[in-house]
Amino acid sequence: MRKPKSVSFQIGWNACINCGACVAVCPHDAGFISPFDTIAVDQPCDIACLLCEDICPVTTITHTVVEA
Ligand code: SF4
Repeated sequence: MRKPKSVSFQIGWNACINCGACVAVCPHDAGFISPFDTIAVDQPCDIACLLCEDICPVTTITHTVVEA
């Protein structure tokens, strides 16, 4: 599968345990954070490495492709 240029993340807030792992692994600058100390869900991610999805211990991060 070709890597998308830009994705938008969704987080299942009921499952999230606020471990901070997604933020720790994210290569974005500090601004890519939600008010709940997870990766941002209100702005597109133009790196789309998806490391946050891989590291989330409760696998509650998903994404939709904004720009393929
Ligand atoms: S890695 Fe998953 S469980 Fe941890 S803060 Fe991020 S979304 Fe929540």
